Amino acid sequence: MRSRDRRLGMDRAISRRDFLSGVSVAIGASLLPACTRIGVPIVEGPSTHYPPAETGMRGSHPGSFEVAHATVQGQHWEAEKADEHYDLVVIGAGISGLSAAYIYRRDVNLNARILILDNHDDFGGHAKRNEFTIDGRTLLGLGGTMFIEASNSYPAVAKQVIHELGIDAERYSEFHHEGLFESLGVEERAVFFDRETFGADHLAFGEREYTGAFDESPLSGSAKEELKRLFADEEDYLAGMTPTERRAVLESHSWRDYLKSFAGIGDEALTYLQKWSHGVWAIGADALPAWMARLEGYPGFAGMDIGYADEEGAKESGGNFYYPDGNASVARLLVRKLVPGCAPGDSMEDIVMARFDYSKLDQETNATRIRLNSTVVGLSHQNGDLDGDVDVTYVSGNKGRTVTASKVVWAGYHAMLPHVCPDVPEDQAAAQGSSVRAPLVYTNVLVRNWRSFVNLGFWRAFCPGSFFHSVRVNRPVSIGDYHFPESPDEPVVLHLQHIPLAPGLPAPDQFRSGGRALLETSFETFERNVRDQLGRILGPGGFDPARDIAAITVNRWPHGYAYSINAESGDVAWMPKRWRHERRPWVDARQRIGNIAIANTDAASNAMTESAIEEAHRAVSELM
Ligand SMILES: Cc1cc2nc3c(=O)[nH]c(=O)nc-3n(C[C@H](O)[C@H](O)[C@H](O)COP(=O)(O)OP(=O)(O)OC[C@H]3O[C@@H](n4cnc5c(N)ncnc54)[C@H](O)[C@@H]3O)c2cc1C
Repeated sequence: MRSRDRRLGMDRAISRRDFLSGVSVAIGASLLPACTRIGVPIVEGPSTHYPPAETGMRGSHPGSFEVAHATVQGQHWEAEKADEHYDLVVIGAGISGLSAAYIYRRDVNLNARILILDNHDDFGGHAKRNEFTIDGRTLLGLGGTMFIEASNSYPAVAKQVIHELGIDAERYSEFHHEGLFESLGVEERAVFFDRETFGADHLAFGEREYTGAFDESPLSGSAKEELKRLFADEEDYLAGMTPTERRAVLESHSWRDYLKSFAGIGDEALTYLQKWSHGVWAIGADALPAWMARLEGYPGFAGMDIGYADEEGAKESGGNFYYPDGNASVARLLVRKLVPGCAPGDSMEDIVMARFDYSKLDQETNATRIRLNSTVVGLSHQNGDLDGDVDVTYVSGNKGRTVTASKVVWAGYHAMLPHVCPDVPEDQAAAQGSSVRAPLVYTNVLVRNWRSFVNLGFWRAFCPGSFFHSVRVNRPVSIGDYHFPESPDEPVVLHLQHIPLAPGLPAPDQFRSGGRALLETSFETFERNVRDQLGRILGPGGFDPARDIAAITVNRWPHGYAYSINAESGDVAWMPKRWRHERRPWVDARQRIGNIAIANTDAASNAMTESAIEEAHRAVSELM
């Protein structure tokens, strides 16, 4: 082992480094024998372990995606006929699939027999819980879907479900330790300039747009001046143009190209801005349309009117709610309602520490059963009769099984449906293929204390040139029996984000390329970057990555945010409300096929929890 690696602690025993290191394995006709040979964990039968406590490579974890990828590449699966018939089979145990089951029971048949199938070893889809145990204490991290955003503006059906689950988003201030960081003298934010990108490692304090932060930074004088001018946001860079002309400019340029061509911002300053939009849109400035940057309130548009009549399309800000495990708590609340006895408790608070018994999820005596580690590879109406029952074939632990269903909700990814369902009409299959997914990685790092943040005086950093574009101490939230570690001498979970893209390509190609790269990036690569980046940022505050890191969980999502594209132009439906093409591919894609209805955020081209619920409601309504 190289001495640098040893200094970083790459040889330290932390909880659990994956055997396979999360490297994608060859897929294709020889998939399963190959997997077995090299040890992809293939889980058979009901789960006896406790998935939220798994560390290492999570999200699209090894063993979860190989069957799906092989199926898309044409693999055929033998299946035995199981003697199981359900009123409803739901494919996908994300928030959309779970909501579909919940709404079906509520609105169609309380006693319905329902089977929910998912390829992961945990339910929740993107809404993923990461649990850590240290010194006898449980700490939580969010592995995906982060928060209930602006629930005040949720559509009525989603509001209703959230309400029925017992969530009162208005109570967030009761649980959030407002002022904790300030009371410890910790500034809001910092910016970490890395030497590979900017010439020297440097931690600047203040918001990422705080111009004072640039003064001491390694940026060149001209880049500092450009950024200061940009953030002052006083100049009209399109002076003399009519709103229509301005609009034409913004709709035909990326934010980066706009800033370069019209605001005179040079390459170095543009590098500083490239990852500005990573956290929210999972795309960089080079492919983020300028009109979106303006709607987001990014600098460079100084009160510009571009003739949008419905400017106030923005969401109401009220009703944000952050559970310590993100919206995994929403998924857990749904499962607790669907499968009585799988977890104790009955409130929005006690869900946070409720220990789920995964062996109870798929019991014959349950009206609703959740079957994990099961990838659906076939879906067809019996004898081609669109009014008849549906055969649902899934692969679990190397074995194919077929169950039957009166009704089906597909709450998995649209792009996969034509590969498993011969009943999808050709046009609809093309529309389903117009769905692309932005890749994201949420990494949670358990550290033994967070004293170094306090010593340095910040709790969150934007890292414009680094592997992880953001690093932060988890949001300080205590709820029910879950207590955020208020003392900086206690262990805490850090949250780091990485968006793998291929800047310079059109956005859909960046997503595809990033998704592929993600499956080929080993856990060691993530771990080395975690250790290196945290060491360089926090080292001056006393942090030692070899000593202070206790566990790492990497949640990789090659199929992350849902976006539709126009097949001819490659235009992305970033905001479906502003889609300018006549046909909306996500609407064409989600049309019911006989007894199969289609949910998931793909059906709205909107990667949001409210859409996941709303599309579930629509899908169930179509089956009624
Ligand atoms: C990193 C990240 C952060 C996010 N943060 C937020 C946030 O803060 N707020 C917000 O509102 N939204 C957020 N989102 C958007 C999120 O996608 C939605 O809110 C919601 O969780 C999506 O639910 P879903 O059920 O539609 O899809 P998913 O969560 O993707 O669930 C679909 C499930 O179906 C499974 N599946 C697919 N095909 C098959 C098959 N053939 N067989 C079996 N199972 C299959 C998938 O593997 C998956 O488990 C985030 C997304 C990501 C990736």
